Amino acid sequence: MSDQMQEYIEEAEKDLLHTYNRYQVVLDRGEGVYLYDINGKKYLDFVAGIAVFALGYHNEAYNNALKDQIDKVIHTSNYYYNVPAIEAARKLKKVSGMDRVFFTNSGAEAIEGAIKAARKYAFLKDGRKDHEIIAMNHSFHGRTFGALSVTGNPKYREPFEPMIGNIRFAELNDFDSIVQNVNEKTCAIIMETVQGEGGIFPAEEAFLKKVRALCDEKDILLILDEVQCGMGRTGYMFAWQKYGVKPDIMACAKGLGCGVPVGAFLLNEKAGAHSLVAGDHGTTYGGNPLAAAAVNKVLDLFESDHIIENVNEVAPYLEKRLDELAARYDFIVARRGAGLMQGLVFDRPVAPYINKALESGLILINAGADIIRFVPPLIISKQNVDDMIQILDACLQ
Ligand SMILES: *Cc1c(COP(=O)(O)O)cnc(C)c1O
Repeated sequence: MSDQMQEYIEEAEKDLLHTYNRYQVVLDRGEGVYLYDINGKKYLDFVAGIAVFALGYHNEAYNNALKDQIDKVIHTSNYYYNVPAIEAARKLKKVSGMDRVFFTNSGAEAIEGAIKAARKYAFLKDGRKDHEIIAMNHSFHGRTFGALSVTGNPKYREPFEPMIGNIRFAELNDFDSIVQNVNEKTCAIIMETVQGEGGIFPAEEAFLKKVRALCDEKDILLILDEVQCGMGRTGYMFAWQKYGVKPDIMACAKGLGCGVPVGAFLLNEKAGAHSLVAGDHGTTYGGNPLAAAAVNKVLDLFESDHIIENVNEVAPYLEKRLDELAARYDFIVARRGAGLMQGLVFDRPVAPYINKALESGLILINAGADIIRFVPPLIISKQNVDDMIQILDACLQ
């Protein structure tokens, strides 16, 4: 490592609150599927800022759209209308089939809004103030209090208790565990369509369909968290579209702005018309003209650059190459995932392999201690997959 990089790292460790065990690299710029550190060393990136930079780095059309908006106006307030937000909402409704959009600054904030909307919906129905939400074990929904309260990882929650309360945890893909937790106070069931941080576990179609039917029967709102698995990552704009199961409320972020911090929660007509009203919820920045311009351009480019088609072409190849790799090493016990959201499950901690890969010019990340997660930019090619496999293979030996 260069002296200068070492100096930056030492300064960061003095000045920034240490809430991350960071990889020992100072990144500087990006180009397509590659990142460069401050010494100019090149890295093949299979993380994309954790499923964010779907379009790759330094996308000219995207960058120019942002620059144009910066020169017009970056921020106004949600007390006024702005054209980028109106257009972004229209496009987001079209690709999702949902009916109402609320823009936020992050995924966690989208979850907060979704939870508030669900509680309000139930409150308007029966006036109770003790509604319950069923969430999944191994889930991840973010670090703010509402989102943390429905996150199925006690290690993340315990030091910060009490949580918001009235949350029950069930098991993804175990319908009986859901049924056991439903009662007259249940207002929502929340899950990621494909669990990300918790270990890349896709929800099964039969399970989702039964949960949807149960929610319909009991007028419980189904909230699907598409923050990581949404925006084309699984080969569908939203992962639930594969199953023909539609949520009442959906949370979206990460790939939505492709780097500009923006999220959204979307509601169907039923949830939208009978929940949050003027004065109930707000945000200073959410959906400001710059963030909305990013969403707009991202959705345009998804269409014009056939991003989802590329996912569907490259993902089966990535799966095949990962399966081959897994077959060669007995310490790799499984591969699972959907589209360009894949995990290799090891029988041991993966951190040493990820560090070795970084040294070798490949950026990877874990999902839990023993899973390597692959969430590359959605523009990757089969050649990029081959290059990644070659470097990782060498690191495993
Ligand atoms: C990242 C993530 C979040 C939280 O998003 P932030 O923008 O970090 O607040 C919520 N849900 C899922 C599934 C995520 O992967």
